[in-house]
Amino acid sequence: MKRKIIIAIDGFSSTGKSTMAKTLARTIGYAYIDTGAMYRTVTLYALDHGMFDGESVDEAALEAALPNIVITLKAGAEGRTETYLNGENVEQEIRSMRVSDKVSIVAALGFVRRDMVRQQQAMGKRKGIVMDGRDIGTVVFPKAELKIFVTASAEVRAQRRFDELRGKGDTSVTFEEVLHNVTERDRIDTTREESPLRQAEDAIVLDNSFMTIPEQDQWLLEQYEKAAKSAKPAKKAK
Ligand code: C5P
Repeated sequence: MKRKIIIAIDGFSSTGKSTMAKTLARTIGYAYIDTGAMYRTVTLYALDHGMFDGESVDEAALEAALPNIVITLKAGAEGRTETYLNGENVEQEIRSMRVSDKVSIVAALGFVRRDMVRQQQAMGKRKGIVMDGRDIGTVVFPKAELKIFVTASAEVRAQRRFDELRGKGDTSVTFEEVLHNVTERDRIDTTREESPLRQAEDAIVLDNSFMTIPEQDQWLLEQYEKAAKSAKPAKKAK
C-alpha cells in the first residue's frame, strides 16, 4: 500500500511550479497548498490598508494587523484554487502586478514568515499534501518525503508569466516589466536573511525551460510513485 507523503515543490518565480503541483495533487487525490498565495494575500492587505510608503512597509502596523488577516485556501471549480481574505475572494487581485511588485518585501519579514510557516505546518499535519513555495523543503517540511526544486531561465519564465497575464486580458504591462519583476523577486528571495530561497540538499532539481507541460507532469508523477513506494510507515501517534 502506498503511504501518504508530503511533497514539497520549491523554486524560482514563474517556473510553473503551481501548475504542476496542482495537476499532481488532482491526479493522486492530495490537497494542494499554494503558499505564494498566502504571502500575496498579506501583501494585498498591507497595500489596501495604506501600509506601504514606496518600497517600505510599516512593519509595526502589519505585525499588529496579522491576527486580523484570515487567509483561507479553497478548492474551486475545475481544480482551481481560490484564495480568500477575511471571507472575500481575492484570487484575481493577488495575481496583479500591484501585488507582485511588493510581495517579496512582505515575504522577507520574519514575523510574517513565522506566522505563515505555522499555518502551513498545521495544514500538512496529516500528510497527503502537495505544497509549493520557496522554503517548503528547507523550513516548512525539512523531512518531506519528496522535494523538488524547479528552475528555468529568467526569459522563459517571464514569457510564461507575460502570456498568462495577456491571457487574462491584462494589457497594462510590457514584457520588460514582467522580466524585471521576475528577476527582482529572484534577487530579493535568494538574498533575504529570513529563510532565503535555496535548494534543499536532498531536493531533485528540475529545469523545465524546454519541457512541455505534459512532459513535466509525467516526470513529477514518476518521482511521486518512487517516493511513495519507499516512504517509511508513519509512527503511531501516542
Ligand atoms: O509563488 P509565487 O510567485 O506566487 O510567490 C510570490 C512571492 O511570495 C515570492 O516571490 C516570494 O517572495 C514569496 N514566497 C515566499 N515563500 C514561499 C512562497 C512565496 O517567500 N513559501
